[in-house]
Amino acid sequence: MKIKCPTCKKWTEWKDNPFRPFCSERCKLIDLGAWASDEYKIEGRPEDEAGPMPSEKEN
Ligand SMILES: [Zn+2]
Repeated sequence: MKIKCPTCKKWTEWKDNPFRPFCSERCKLIDLGAWASDEYKIEGRPEDEAGPMPSEKEN
């Protein structure tokens, strides 16, 4: 039985394939990396935490 790799669209053997449905470990990591990088984009950071400086007058 042969399957088509979702990453590179290459026909590969299903039997004895530890990376199925991918043809190789590389294609598997590419697919996992695709959604992982999307998740990193969502993560945001506060740009400035410093509030306005209080001005005090001494006399
Ligand atoms: Zn592939």
